[in-house]
Amino acid sequence: MADYYELLGVSRNASADEIKKAYRTKARQLHPDANPGDATAEEKFKQVAQAYEVLSDPDARARYDRFGEAGVSGAGGGGDFFGGGGGLGDIFETFFGGGSPFGQQRGPSGPPRGQDLEVVADLDFEQAVFGATLPVNVRTALSCDDCGGSGAGAGTQPVKCSECNGQGQVQRVRQSILGQMVTMQACQRCRGFGRVIATPCATCSGEGRVVTEKTFQVDVPAGVDTGSTLRLTGRGAVGPRGGGAGDLFVHLRVRPHDRYERDGFDLVTVVEVSIAQATLGVSLQLPTLDGDETLVVPAGTQPGREFVLKRRGVPRLQSSGRGDLRVLISVKVPTKLSDDESRLLRQFAEARGEDVAPADTSFFSKIKSAFS
Ligand SMILES: [Zn+2]
Ligand SMILES: [Zn+2]
Repeated sequence: MADYYELLGVSRNASADEIKKAYRTKARQLHPDANPGDATAEEKFKQVAQAYEVLSDPDARARYDRFGEAGVSGAGGGGDFFGGGGGLGDIFETFFGGGSPFGQQRGPSGPPRGQDLEVVADLDFEQAVFGATLPVNVRTALSCDDCGGSGAGAGTQPVKCSECNGQGQVQRVRQSILGQMVTMQACQRCRGFGRVIATPCATCSGEGRVVTEKTFQVDVPAGVDTGSTLRLTGRGAVGPRGGGAGDLFVHLRVRPHDRYERDGFDLVTVVEVSIAQATLGVSLQLPTLDGDETLVVPAGTQPGREFVLKRRGVPRLQSSGRGDLRVLISVKVPTKLSDDESRLLRQFAEARGEDVAPADTSFFSKIKSAFS
């Protein structure tokens, strides 16, 4: 879809009032009531409405400025993880007193919209935290270059179907016990397109589209996680013979990190210290996702103590700020000691009057314990 600012014909730093005014003007020009049966105007109208929905919302506008359509996917569609909601319906109520001029489905004539596509994209932990541009490869249908999507062979044009007079559907009248029944059926001759192609384009066999692999560079906003879905409006497969494109849904899957885990927008890591370090205190260099930080473990730190570095976690997807970085202290108990170390520790225990197992382990292992 074209740039939202261009669609509304305003500059990128237009004020909220300018955007509203531009939208009202465009919406009146393009409104389906003013352009009956004009599919181009209708499509344009929807795009303008979507552009306005995004640019009239300061948050959505900021995301759009930063990430383009990926940042605001869901606007006009609703229901994805950006919380879309609202959708076109709100705009119609605001400006036209309710009631969308569009039906749920396209009319029976004209080319159908292409399919929505879904892909799964893997990304690194840091890419999910800080955002990234991700190449996403999809098998899709693109408009055929050789016929411009019309499906008609070189030098020819699709012509109006004579069977249905370009309507794409025909009336069938039949008698029933209730009287005369009139039903509309898709035209057999043009398969509902309203137009027929005498000489199909050799490249696409008259389909107007070709199936191909395509790589999209997808802007992934900071703060996504496994299970997040980006919706790229109009990046799905194009429909046959000039039909509009569906949407592309990119489901994200984040590779785990070897030191950090996510807890919502908090980052959690475990730092292991020795008994001596926990007891006497230590200053450590902690490699965070933002670079090294000094972590001071004070004397007498207990296992399981948590240190929090504020606002060093994951950027909050739908608002501003970041979660916290939480460091859990784990105290490592040595399992093997040299004779010297063992002697020193026994002295230490003795000084504190603590009872410990004797050095002779063969004796110790004979003591029966109720625990396992
Ligand atoms: Zn073609
Ligand atoms: Zn027809």
